[in-house]
Amino acid sequence: MRANGRPLTTTSPTAVRNLGILAHVDAGKTTITERILFTTGAIHKRGEVHHGTTVTDYDPQERDRGITIFAAAVSCTWAGHHVNLIDTPGHVDFSDEVERSLRVLDGAVAVFDAVAGVEPQSETVWRQADRHGVPRIAFVNKLDRAGADLDTAVASIRRRLGVVPLVVQLPIGREDAFTGVVDLVTMRSLRWTAGSADFESGPVPEPLREEAGRRRRLLEETVAELHAGALEEFCADSALSDGTLARALRELTLRGDGVVVLCGSAYRNRGIEPLLDAVVAYLPAPADMPPVRGMADGSEQERAPDPAEPFAALAFKVTATPTGRLTHLRIYAGTLRKGGTVLDATTGRTERVGRILRVQADRHEDREEAVAGDIVAVIGLKSARAGTTLCAPGAPLVLEPPTVAEPVVSVA
Ligand code: GDP
Repeated sequence: MRANGRPLTTTSPTAVRNLGILAHVDAGKTTITERILFTTGAIHKRGEVHHGTTVTDYDPQERDRGITIFAAAVSCTWAGHHVNLIDTPGHVDFSDEVERSLRVLDGAVAVFDAVAGVEPQSETVWRQADRHGVPRIAFVNKLDRAGADLDTAVASIRRRLGVVPLVVQLPIGREDAFTGVVDLVTMRSLRWTAGSADFESGPVPEPLREEAGRRRRLLEETVAELHAGALEEFCADSALSDGTLARALRELTLRGDGVVVLCGSAYRNRGIEPLLDAVVAYLPAPADMPPVRGMADGSEQERAPDPAEPFAALAFKVTATPTGRLTHLRIYAGTLRKGGTVLDATTGRTERVGRILRVQADRHEDREEAVAGDIVAVIGLKSARAGTTLCAPGAPLVLEPPTVAEPVVSVA
């Protein structure tokens, strides 16, 4: 096991991933969220959805202390990065809540069922994320189920979503015998120990070498094709090295030209570590995002994702908990300090920042400050509502509503 999940003391806009998990109801969003928290060490006990024991509800006392992982966002750490899991409403409509949740995240994992493939609702969520330009990777879940088949699921991603799949894993074993994956970027295998969260990394098993080699070449060819025009940059040599392949996959993900596809069984805790590695490797950090725009004194202004900029944040959810009224913020620019003041751009009121909390699965961690890219909850704000802009009193700004791009036409 890797030494992940250690508390990080500092945050930088490059070492954060603000992540949403987008899924059809029943595809496994709750299970994956819970396994991510378990794998990162944010929780120490695994729960099962069908036993009613996931973090959301497994300890009534914890719930009484105001801890609900789906309230707004929950933080964990992986490979030196803060991963903020942002709740995306399960029901898909065009309500403000869905729009806001898509606005505060920088990247997402789209979850598909390995038996059903792309279902109507997953297609709707996908289109919605397209309209917001949210970079995504795909996780084909439930590979342990009877009838599960990665290739069929990948074909349905290509057909129904009209996107080029970049399959970076080859499953080891089928259905009940699914025990691991070959990572086609590093050409190493990962095998999970039955009944445990432990895994072993090793060379590609002999019987899979030819198939893995074939799939790696297919991945390279697809990447090269999508990178037409800039090929010299990515393949100076005839073959892509692991590092350049990973870099090319990241760029394609950020451009939305292809989707990296991973697979696993969340229920059996298989595939979560590589998924987290892919989140860190391929999805953008807040520092990669363009500046936010807003209006100030009748003119348009921008704020870069930089702690030194004037403070600007969006309140995206307000929850009442026994700890107090928590205003959940996505900070786009500047630095928020405990004891400082912020301007509520909607009401024109100046308010004091009582406490700054990083919301974790089983506790709240007090912080002295939070910077651009962070997602935190603040206690002490009386008037802010979901959708309110908070800014530096000396530099007022009202953030623009999210810009929604034209829908991407489906390829039948
Ligand atoms: P959500 O509605 O997307 O949040 O889905 P859940 O996480 O609640 O999962 C729906 C059902 O699928 C539950 O009964 C889970 O136990 C089950 N499930 C989730 N992941 C897997 C998996 O990898 N394999 C199998 N066989 N079942 C799973």
